[in-house]
Amino acid sequence: MSLKPKIALLSVFVTAGLLVAPAAQAVESTTAGTTVDGRIVDPRPSTAKLAFELHKLALLSHGKIRVSEIGRSNQGRPVWAARVGHGKTRIQYVTQQHGDEPLGTPAALEFLRKVGVGHSAWAQKLLAKVTVDIVVRANPDGHEHDWRYNYDPKATPEYGEKGKGYDINRYHDPAVAPKDNPATEAGLIQRRNASFKPDIMVDYHMQGRYLDANGKEITASTMWPTHPGVKPSDVDFAKQIAVVVQRSIDGNGGYVSQYPGGDYQGIARNGYGLLGNGSVLIELSLIPEREQQQIQDALASMLAIAQAAADGSVRTVDPAGAEAIPPRGPALPGTVEEGDEAA
Ligand SMILES: [Zn+2]
Repeated sequence: MSLKPKIALLSVFVTAGLLVAPAAQAVESTTAGTTVDGRIVDPRPSTAKLAFELHKLALLSHGKIRVSEIGRSNQGRPVWAARVGHGKTRIQYVTQQHGDEPLGTPAALEFLRKVGVGHSAWAQKLLAKVTVDIVVRANPDGHEHDWRYNYDPKATPEYGEKGKGYDINRYHDPAVAPKDNPATEAGLIQRRNASFKPDIMVDYHMQGRYLDANGKEITASTMWPTHPGVKPSDVDFAKQIAVVVQRSIDGNGGYVSQYPGGDYQGIARNGYGLLGNGSVLIELSLIPEREQQQIQDALASMLAIAQAAADGSVRTVDPAGAEAIPPRGPALPGTVEEGDEAA
């Protein structure tokens, strides 16, 4: 039997919402790279499908996963958050502030499935130590329009694009109150962060394709707060988290570089760092043939951060290790140097 009919069969299950494939039908690899637990994960679920999947996970978890609408986008789409665990250490993940950078979102669904569905001793122990809150697809309008910004075509944004909307990831300045925030969805994240008060905050994005200094392609980048006002101890904590990110993604077959990000306080990485969170950015490279593996790498980072927070090992990492993460080099020849967070 060739691989193709199996894949077609699997996509039928995925479409039907039957996401757990029997082991016998597990597909180890596809043209899009290695899969998560042998399943092909939808890299770009529609916002309607995302809502369905979140509520299904909540049901399957028997109450361990709590899904709530934290507000609505400018076009009236719900912005969802999912919370799991009841431990003292609080972790917030945010995915897809930029609508056309999707892969953190399916990784979040897989994280919830992994820790919230089933009764493994490992997950029970984890959930006793940490509470993880995920804003899953912060920018549903941008996703549906397949663009970076939110939807606010009449705005003349300082950061964003006239005719489209605001760049949500420039509107996390702690000096701007959520009620005064012109970027609606940034205000929703600010409120969620303020009520949850996380110890750790990780923001998932995507970037173009880049090499290291020796010409080897990197698959992801990470960075800690670089605004000069962030407390040195909070920067060190973020660096410890960044090292956990590097180890988890490199250990999963990826290759992490530093991300050359800016110092502006409106960038989530800096804004939540100023508020005392251990705040880290993760950028997954847009590598079409590696899409499933990129989701799996993001999942590995989510699991590793939660685990290292739960067992306390993140606090024993040498923050200087973050400085040893290789810098990001030039764009892969033939690809556009595109930016992302600061970028
Ligand atoms: Zn981005």
